[in-house]
Amino acid sequence: MLVTERSERIRTNSGGLGLAGARSEEFALLPLPAAPALLSTEEGIVVRATEQAAKLAGETTPAALIGCRLADLVVRDGPVSLLRSRTGQHPVRPLSWPHADDARLRVTVLVDVSDLADGGHDAAEAADGDERRWLIEAQRIAKVGSWVYYPETGELYRSPVLAEFLGDSGAQEAVGVLAMIEATHPDDVERARQFYLDVLTAPEDELLEVELRDHAGKRVYLCTGRAEYNRAGRVERVQGTVQDVTEHRALERQLRDERRKLQDAQRIARLGTWEWDLRSNVMRLSNMLHEIIGKPANAPITFDSYLDRVHPDDRGWVRRAWRPLVEERDPIEVEHRYLRIDGTTRILRLHGTAIKDADGHDVLVGTAQDVTEQRAVVTRMERSSQRFTDLVSITPVGIGLFDRAERLVDANDALCDLLGYQLDQLRGMTAKDITHPDEQHTNLPTPAENSGIRRRVPQRVLVRSDGEPVYCELRTSASVQDDGTHFWLVVFQDITERRRAAEALRYQATHDDLTGLPNRTAVKDLLHRLLGRADSHRVAVLFCDIDNFKRVNDSLGHDAGDELLVALARRLEGGLPAGCTAARLSGDEFVIICSDIEAVGGVDSLANRVAGLLRTAVPVHGQLIRVSASIGAAVPDGSASGGEDLLRFADAAMFEAKGRGTGKVSLASPALMASADRQLQLEGQLREALNNDGLALHYQPVVDADGVVVTAEALVRWPHPDRGMLAPDAFLPVAEQGDLLRELDRWVLRTALREAATWPVRGGRPVGVAVNLAGLVPGGPEFVDAVADIVAETGISWDRVILELVETALVDLPSRTRHEMGELVSRGVRFAVDDFGTGYSSLARLKDLPAQIIKVDRRFVAGVGGDASDFAVARAVVDMARAMGRQCVAEGVETATQFHVLSGVGVDAYQGWLFSGAVPAREFRDLVARGPMPIPGA
Ligand code: C2E
Ligand code: CA
Ligand code: CA
Repeated sequence: MLVTERSERIRTNSGGLGLAGARSEEFALLPLPAAPALLSTEEGIVVRATEQAAKLAGETTPAALIGCRLADLVVRDGPVSLLRSRTGQHPVRPLSWPHADDARLRVTVLVDVSDLADGGHDAAEAADGDERRWLIEAQRIAKVGSWVYYPETGELYRSPVLAEFLGDSGAQEAVGVLAMIEATHPDDVERARQFYLDVLTAPEDELLEVELRDHAGKRVYLCTGRAEYNRAGRVERVQGTVQDVTEHRALERQLRDERRKLQDAQRIARLGTWEWDLRSNVMRLSNMLHEIIGKPANAPITFDSYLDRVHPDDRGWVRRAWRPLVEERDPIEVEHRYLRIDGTTRILRLHGTAIKDADGHDVLVGTAQDVTEQRAVVTRMERSSQRFTDLVSITPVGIGLFDRAERLVDANDALCDLLGYQLDQLRGMTAKDITHPDEQHTNLPTPAENSGIRRRVPQRVLVRSDGEPVYCELRTSASVQDDGTHFWLVVFQDITERRRAAEALRYQATHDDLTGLPNRTAVKDLLHRLLGRADSHRVAVLFCDIDNFKRVNDSLGHDAGDELLVALARRLEGGLPAGCTAARLSGDEFVIICSDIEAVGGVDSLANRVAGLLRTAVPVHGQLIRVSASIGAAVPDGSASGGEDLLRFADAAMFEAKGRGTGKVSLASPALMASADRQLQLEGQLREALNNDGLALHYQPVVDADGVVVTAEALVRWPHPDRGMLAPDAFLPVAEQGDLLRELDRWVLRTALREAATWPVRGGRPVGVAVNLAGLVPGGPEFVDAVADIVAETGISWDRVILELVETALVDLPSRTRHEMGELVSRGVRFAVDDFGTGYSSLARLKDLPAQIIKVDRRFVAGVGGDASDFAVARAVVDMARAMGRQCVAEGVETATQFHVLSGVGVDAYQGWLFSGAVPAREFRDLVARGPMPIPGA
């Protein structure tokens, strides 16, 4: 019965766990004491038995005990246990402890106590002889000591092995439990005490365990204890074992540490391991690898399921890459993209190799690492370095790498182009080789290594392969190559263009756009230089003004005028003797500067020569135009010898020459120079007067046919402190010379409008105010703004403002200017053509003039009474003006006849001494207040 039961168990066990079968060889090797002993698993299944144990159990072979349950074999019965055997029961005392080599197994030594009547404290003595020897031997092998304690008597028996553990060899005498507890490590004493108390109160059979260290803390003991009760239910004795597990624990700790370290390392490296059993075709992955590929740990993985998740683009070659391992057992290394279940793509790097398992079968094993991040970094670095290389190669500035011997190691395309070499020609050339022979410095401006300093050389002349110089700005910095060698990084910026541009700018600043001749700035510079020299008395300046140039401009247009000026400039350049420079000051004014007048035969000779050059016929726009110039000459006279002065005197002389007719030459006399100086003085005073409201305005009424004052013309006067009241003719040319016209106009406009705004109004019609403009003209920079600001500032209504401009200021205006004027007109401003008929334009052009009022010049008015042609002109102008919807004003009406003739042809308004001259502001007010002016002969 029992046998059948046992064989049943064996079968069950080998079928179920396969433990006995699989590990039988291993169990056979484990040392067991030469005593009745059993080796059992954690589950309590006997896996090995000694011959003596079999004998004690009445079996013929130890195999009969294998597979039995230990609990069935050894059954507790009161103070002793019974080993149940075929022959019956055999009283034994089992002593049990974990096996020293494999803590999962337990060794149970069965001490035969059949010779004892009942369990007593002399059990140890009873086991004397063989049993005792076996036991001690067994304990030594297992590093197990045992103890028995009788609470009632307080006796404690320790086995010799335990005594050795505790460091005393007088093993046999009974000592108190306390002493044993105190032999433990101070930190463990409390636990030891608790353990003892627990054992004393634990239910029968419950085996308690605790791990304690020895006093020095060097060794670790696994202590077990169990209380045994007598029939009265009191603890009769406590017995236990103490096993030295120091090495065991150390090994465990080490293993644990190593496993953790390995896991950590794998986790950090994102490295997993795999194993592919070719027979079952199942791949086993480490937890880390499961994590990497994002698969739950329990999902079975085969080679095909792995391939399915390889990126489709990689799958083909990955399959091929595995072949050497699968077919030839050659190690492989593969890196490919892997699609995780969660949809992300990772880059896996796999190593694989073949090993043999215990049975000699091939197993493929290897690692797999997630290198996505590394690859990303590498790719980024590669890309950025590639980008840098690309950048250098396309950068339009030259970049060169020089070694410490200043030898060119590498260069970009731009540097090759700059110097006109192929890269391979350029390599090895020194900094000196590419420097122009004229350049003083041939070394690179090299900063100290590692200094981080950059150096810049604003200009260095290099030489191209064809010998041409190249102007470059150099910037250098020291750098270190990957291999640690130092080199210079040099950037070459071609500044040839910049230099050219700077030169062009300089040229532009000193030359006239139209003719290319030196301009006023250059003239001043040149004169300054010449007059600063020792022979400055030999310098001469000729001021040339083209006669009637305005007429050419007006009749043929600006283009024709320009063409004429250019032709004359070329004639001057070509025809002047050496040492003379022709320049253009403005408009039709040319200046000749002679550095040595004696060398060219004196001032007269030069002036005549220049006059000859400028007296010519020039074909312009298919028309031959005869021109001449008025020329004024000046030489330093000792007192005033500045460049500006010379120019001014020459200008004055020219003005004087012009007064004598066309094509005349005049030399600045002392008297003329004195007068020019006076002019200059006057200019200064005028400037002052303008700034201090030192000018005055008179107003001349303009009346209609009934004598009603419709407007008044503001006419400027200068009450000069020394020279009395000056008329405009006396100072307007000074203002023009001093470039004060615009400022003067502004002053007059502001003063006149401010005054007019306060004029009395009679008959419901306010009197308009007309202002002459010569400097502040349409097309000028701030014309519209200035007018609008002044109107706003004075508060006068727009429709009372009339702006008088001469015909020449109104022809050929660009459309933008006309648009600006239109803006003012739309607000109510009227424009008047002053002195109509004195210009060179024809009547036909009247319709093009952007003006609402035509003022017929007094030259025509003067003759309307007697001269038939003047009358015809006057009538034609009036007819024309009316036809075009313009108002017509007659100027300089002095006689009643003139008035009546003009009113006969339909002139709208009249201005002249017949009614009133220009009068001071206060008088004009009174005049307006008196009402309509009397019409003579009415
Ligand atoms: P204008 O614009 O033709 O002005 C008319 C000139 O003729 C004024 O001379 C005026 O006094 C004068 N006049 C008026 N009625 C008669 C007359 O019946 N017979 C004669 N023979 N002359 C008469 P004024 O004031 O000497 O002005 C001369 C020129 O000066 C003006 O000629 C004008 O071109 C200019 N001018 C005068 N005032 C200003 C001004 O405030 N600004 C500017 N830019 N130019 C002005
Ligand atoms: Ca006028
Ligand atoms: Ca006029």
